[in-house]
Amino acid sequence: MARGKKIYEGKAKTLYEGPEPGTLIQYFKDDATAFNAEKKAVVDGKGVLNNRLSEFFMEGLNSIGVPNHFIKRLNMREQLIRQCEIVPLEVIVRNFAAGSMSKRLGIEEGTRLPRPIIEFSYKDDDLGDPLVPEEYIIAFGWASQQDMDDIVALALRVNDFMAGVMYGVGIKLIDFKIEIGRVWEGDFMRLIVADEISPDSCRLWDIESGQKLDKDVFRRDLGNLTDAYTEVARRLGVLPTNGPAAANSVIN
Ligand code: 5GP
Repeated sequence: MARGKKIYEGKAKTLYEGPEPGTLIQYFKDDATAFNAEKKAVVDGKGVLNNRLSEFFMEGLNSIGVPNHFIKRLNMREQLIRQCEIVPLEVIVRNFAAGSMSKRLGIEEGTRLPRPIIEFSYKDDDLGDPLVPEEYIIAFGWASQQDMDDIVALALRVNDFMAGVMYGVGIKLIDFKIEIGRVWEGDFMRLIVADEISPDSCRLWDIESGQKLDKDVFRRDLGNLTDAYTEVARRLGVLPTNGPAAANSVIN
């Protein structure tokens, strides 16, 4: 399928115009960044794995009626998605304390939370995506109260689905980040899950050993990131046929 004009280049993905109005092509790069792009590397095969994994999670969400942007995977690195207007928030769901929550509150990483906790960051790289209360979101018009109710409901459904799927393959879903987009059907606006769901945006720990199988491997120099993501893909049965390295050479 022919790609159109590049319309946006992010840290890990590039968006191109799609073949029809209202569609985009999302290309998964091998670039890994952390700490607001202060740490950077190219991780061979990461884009191929994240393309497959995001397809797997989004298709699963579609099949249980959680609306999202995924239409179909096109090849090793690209997927066709619905164009939407991204709400400028990172929606974070936490089941266990880790990362910035542990740092902020002094709670040991891995401590189970009394219930899933949802928090919001304002998407702005220059500001380092600051944590914001719901009152700011509504007051500044980034989303309405009704949007926020819908976003929380969507986030909790994604959490239940993801936690269950991961538990089934021996992995604990510690936390994750999603992004939400708006699509219009006539005058009617709907909120859908957008961007990606992959080990780049989740914390995934092996239930038995506690081994980290997510981007913290890169952030904290804990080993080989491709190996960690390959293990997640292998357990879920979505490894590219010839492995990520082979897939890489096919697409590049
Ligand atoms: P924390 O706030 O603890 O750093 O991150 C919480 C969760 O959201 C983690 O799973 C982390 O991977 C994800 N997350 C937070 N901010 C970002 C971001 O800017 N990009 C990505 N890919 N994930 C993020």
